[in-house]
Amino acid sequence: TNILSGWNFDNSYSRLPEIFYSSQNPTQVSSPELIVFNSSLAAKLGLNEDSLKQKNGVDVFAGNELPEGAFPLAQAYAGHQFGHFTMLGDGRAILLGEQITPSNERFDIQLKGSGRTPYSRGGDGRATLGPMLREYIISEAMHGLGIPTTRSLAVVTTGETVMREAELPGAILTRIAASHLRFGTFQYASKWGTTEDVKALADYAIERHYPHIQETEHRYLSLLQEVINRQAALVTKWQLVGFIHGVMNTDNMTISGETIDYGPCAFMDTYDPETVFSSIDRQGRYAYGNQPKITAWNLARFAETLLPLLHEDQEQAVTIAQDEISQFPDLFQSYWLNGMRSKLGIVNEETGDDTLIEGLLSLMKKHGADYTNTFRALTLKNHEEEQSVLFRAPEFSQWYKLWQDRLGRQDESKEASLELMKQSNPGVIPRNHRVEEALEAAVTKSDFSVMENLLNVLKKPYTYSQDQTDYCKPAEPSKYPYQTFC
Ligand code: AMP
Ligand code: MG
Ligand code: MG
Repeated sequence: TNILSGWNFDNSYSRLPEIFYSSQNPTQVSSPELIVFNSSLAAKLGLNEDSLKQKNGVDVFAGNELPEGAFPLAQAYAGHQFGHFTMLGDGRAILLGEQITPSNERFDIQLKGSGRTPYSRGGDGRATLGPMLREYIISEAMHGLGIPTTRSLAVVTTGETVMREAELPGAILTRIAASHLRFGTFQYASKWGTTEDVKALADYAIERHYPHIQETEHRYLSLLQEVINRQAALVTKWQLVGFIHGVMNTDNMTISGETIDYGPCAFMDTYDPETVFSSIDRQGRYAYGNQPKITAWNLARFAETLLPLLHEDQEQAVTIAQDEISQFPDLFQSYWLNGMRSKLGIVNEETGDDTLIEGLLSLMKKHGADYTNTFRALTLKNHEEEQSVLFRAPEFSQWYKLWQDRLGRQDESKEASLELMKQSNPGVIPRNHRVEEALEAAVTKSDFSVMENLLNVLKKPYTYSQDQTDYCKPAEPSKYPYQTFC
């Protein structure tokens, strides 16, 4: 079946020291059915769609059959959950192996929801259809937005029910990732492994994600710098589109710099840095405006795991690590400023740019403006038609004039500046009520057309095409407050 379906596995993770995983087969399920399939991603991975949609192919997504070359395992990791350190690990996910693509790239193929593992603790190892489809939609939307992310290849239902607040349909998501190495994988090695284990993991991470630093003199320091840089770039992208991750525990932060774990995430509608959607985030630890600070906190936890590799003298190692971490705020601020300049069509740099940007944001906050639609309207220059309170405020006219004056102080043509705005301001995002509507139709009526339409629109969020207009409206007030669950 491999030749037909295109599976082409290697299992480099399984060659790490044994403490990093437990061999574990997926648990069989009764009657799998393919619900969504990602054709373009399959093609990129070198997989054959027709073959994978046959029974044998679907059985792989269900965990009922193993492709040749698979080495199924559950990964061990630890992590700080809401600030508290704990042992974790794949409690309901199984890594089948790494697909080597026709262009020689390597991607983890993971089944999420495929049964218990040694790390399941009290959990059942299962997942339900709604949340797996939600992960599919939002991860693919993130990819469309140009944000590094794990991706979703397929969702199957299992034919079995899973006990949650009620009996719900069971499902398995096939997740694709550059790797599933987490800050928490390093924390696990640091806490329960030897320095040799940490080193093996660091070397593996370097080989897999940062091969260009392999020959540098201080490569573990380089690794720290690279991860800091990728995470700063990532959280900047989240901030720029109003994405709220919702559960930025250290086990949900990747070494590759991809977004992972689409449990309680959601996009901000009305601009407010204090926005929180997750029902379990009662203190607002992971609120929109806190995300950069939390990234820095998480990076510090990652840096601690590397201390034995940074310097023989641990006091010196701490100084080295702290020096790197302390650069994060400036790094983030410069990435963010550049991103915000682009959202406003600004190409060159001026010292007052931060004031101009903050000026707009504070007006948005004051007038309860929709984050995405404000930038959309500025891009389309249709704020006269937009019946939003912000655009009718006299203070906005003042700000608008400052902005126009600022645009006048660059050589860029008006057209080029507008094009930059279009590329930087999504015309459409996965609005919470639209996602809910798609899930509702899929889960309760087995009507997948609503989701397919939504996925299509989210593929190209920067085109400003006519078919997106419908998807731009914020939810009716009755849909608030919106809450998400893990
Ligand atoms: P998360 O909050 O999604 O990052 O998950 C935290 C931990 O809980 C991870 O180790 C998961 O594998 C585990 N987990 C979540 N749901 C289940 C489940 N239904 N059964 C077993 N483990 C689970
Ligand atoms: Mg997780
Ligand atoms: Mg999760």
